[in-house]
Amino acid sequence: KFGSSKNAAISRACLARICSRGLSSETGSKLEGKVALITGAASGIGKATAAKFIQNGAKVVIADIQPQLGQETAQELGPNASFITCDVTNESDVSNAVDFTISGHNQLDIMYNNAGVACRTPPTIADLDLAVFDNVMNINVRGVVAGMKHAARVMIPRKSGCILCTASVTGLLGGLAQHTYSISKVSVIGIVKSVAAELCRHGIRVNCISPFAIPTELVMQEFTQIYRGVEASRLVELIHKAGALEGAKCEPCDIANAALYLASDDAKYVSGHNLVVDGGFTSFKTFGFPAPDQMQ
Ligand code: NAD
Repeated sequence: KFGSSKNAAISRACLARICSRGLSSETGSKLEGKVALITGAASGIGKATAAKFIQNGAKVVIADIQPQLGQETAQELGPNASFITCDVTNESDVSNAVDFTISGHNQLDIMYNNAGVACRTPPTIADLDLAVFDNVMNINVRGVVAGMKHAARVMIPRKSGCILCTASVTGLLGGLAQHTYSISKVSVIGIVKSVAAELCRHGIRVNCISPFAIPTELVMQEFTQIYRGVEASRLVELIHKAGALEGAKCEPCDIANAALYLASDDAKYVSGHNLVVDGGFTSFKTFGFPAPDQMQ
């Protein structure tokens, strides 16, 4: 899917390196006996989170629109992973994924609505392509709502459960991404607050995670379009250097760790929250005036 075959080779190598950090062999028992359903888990953040959950004792159902990649991912993650084809824009697919999880494991403890897409459209509001807008909102927003609806259907009778979603720093600050993507992620943060308000009385926690930029397939596709002809390895470097926290970079494993926290009993009193994983990027703007010693 990348721009050129040279870029594709470099990108796959880069992505494999990045993802392997999310698939560390570190184990724990924070999710022992739990069952999770993760949309968009064939790759990137979802895959890293599936691996992390399994390493912590969970059984994970991977639901993704890419059947071949999804099956390969499930195989790679071992016997506690399974796969179901699911397009989150199709409510019956989402409903089936929930029912598939229940029929295989008798329970659904964690529903992670992570599937999402970026968009390629003229960046200005005056030129906004509303057909692209509808398509992105259908996946990034309606898909999340469908996931919550069907998770709630099976969680409410059990009076427990945890719903997670992937929002983004682009939902917190304007100007970081194209309008359509930003608007979709602002919406995810809003949906979490709205649904958390209802589901709290059923003992169900609802939270989201807002990652900084990570060079996954979604972002690399976007960047190879914007920076045509630039080597993928340079784009990965560019993305990492855009961060604010010196000596660290945002990786899928960072989001997987945040998801593990929110899904586990460590976060048993956390709901309606947007956990921002951005190295402080959206918390401050570096001051424009010179330091006093520079004025001497
Ligand atoms: P990715 O491309 O690696 O993963 C996205 C996954 O979603 C893919 O496996 C894809 O097949 C799946 N998907 C796409 N459309 C789908 C549909 N209609 N139904 C089911 N599955 C579908 O990218 P990623 O970065 O891991 O993205 C995961 C989530 O993280 C997205 O919601 C994205 O918006 C969000 N996010 C990513 C970043 C980043 O910088 N990578 C930052 C903030 C938020």
